[in-house]
Amino acid sequence: MSSATLPRSTQSWQAADSAHFLHPFTDFQSLAKAGARIITRAEGIYLWDSDGHRLLDAMSGLWCVNVGYGQQSLVDAAAKQMLQLPFYNAFFQTATPPAIELAELLAAITPPQFQHVFFTGSGSEGNDTVVRMVRRYWDILGQPERQVIISRNNAYHGSTMAGASLGGMSGMHAQGGLPIPNIVHIEQPYWAALGQGMSRDAFGLMAAGWLEDRILALGADKVAAFIGEPIQGAGGVIIPPATYWPEIERICDKYGILLVSDEVICGFGRTGHWFGCETFGFKPDLMTFAKGVTSGYVPLGGVMVGERIARVLIEQGGEFEHGYTYSGHPVACAVALANIRLIQQQDLVGHVHDDVGPYLAQAFASLLDHPLVGDAETCGLMGAILLVKNKAGLVPFNPEVGIGMVCRGHCFANGLVMRAVGNRMIIAPPLVITRLQIDELTGLIRRCLDLTLVDAQREKWI
Ligand SMILES: *Cc1c(COP(=O)(O)O)cnc(C)c1O
Repeated sequence: MSSATLPRSTQSWQAADSAHFLHPFTDFQSLAKAGARIITRAEGIYLWDSDGHRLLDAMSGLWCVNVGYGQQSLVDAAAKQMLQLPFYNAFFQTATPPAIELAELLAAITPPQFQHVFFTGSGSEGNDTVVRMVRRYWDILGQPERQVIISRNNAYHGSTMAGASLGGMSGMHAQGGLPIPNIVHIEQPYWAALGQGMSRDAFGLMAAGWLEDRILALGADKVAAFIGEPIQGAGGVIIPPATYWPEIERICDKYGILLVSDEVICGFGRTGHWFGCETFGFKPDLMTFAKGVTSGYVPLGGVMVGERIARVLIEQGGEFEHGYTYSGHPVACAVALANIRLIQQQDLVGHVHDDVGPYLAQAFASLLDHPLVGDAETCGLMGAILLVKNKAGLVPFNPEVGIGMVCRGHCFANGLVMRAVGNRMIIAPPLVITRLQIDELTGLIRRCLDLTLVDAQREKWI
């Protein structure tokens, strides 16, 4: 028997982990001190760790396991494709059936302006593709000076050089000399932080107006595109006012600027429509996707390319000198096909829109009576709870308290995975969650809020 098949203790896993594995977005020393939590199996919306503890996974892994864990049809699709043809490339005038079929299916389920797709291995690679593609588009049209891409503070668009540059995370920019040239950021549409004293709708119009201000300051003939997540995910589930996206679209149209929707989280049913741009009522020229396209069972990403751009690339462009070994990977595409068919067969988009989405909204509204909860909002199956020191005026905790991390600690200890982003506690559970499981989730959240309140009173943080 090889050592890999021997059962190992949690301690042994943790020792080997800290000896050899550099984790993403991790302070290596503090992880080594704490020891990693080793997740060994999963079923439905639940995870189990190496000590046998069960956790309700309210984050869908990392925003991706939309159909839940343990779906046999995705497993079968992968196994069958691996046997038949585990890999072939799409570089040299070749293609594989799963990639073609997935392209066809994506054209059918995305908004009608999308008839073409460019496949990548991840969301970050998708956004790298966006940067190169929009600049190429303007170049072909004889406007090479249109270079600037406008994004937003506290956006997340991935972690490659271009992805991190498009993102608006100052901590990421500080490491590695980012952003790359010609990417600029405007302020985010975060009402609770920037719009108090205004109605949400009035704030949404004002926040969209910051885009027009920046376009005019730069000169419209220098601006290639605007990119945004319909709802900022990693930034803390920032749900924009309903007025925001239609006004953004109007401004992009007015100046002829391409509009890019980063749907890596919002895509594939998360917001109660297939795509976030449908929930918010705007029509992007490009759409980045990843995560939910395969429910995370294998890596896959891509960019839906609107006909406005595709026609220019195809008819006037010559070779587009960009691509990845795994663009259109047949196993990943086969899993994506099985995943999308499962979402269709089980009508998970309708389930979110008509049933569990509204039910989660009610559950979150019921948390507003808690002394720590300043705001609680949802859209589809994304939700955020703002923890405040004083509900009147939404007075924040001293950041040094790390109130979100305190709450997150109670969540883990009580069998719940909920993420903390500063003072926001966020969730994005699998779309297969039931009402009964939402009751369980809400009960766990309330218990963890109560435990956090006890800490806050004892330590005199409030
Ligand atoms: C996760 C994420 C990305 C990056 O995707 P990776 O697959 O991690 O490269 C990009 N955009 C958004 C909105 C994301 O949430």
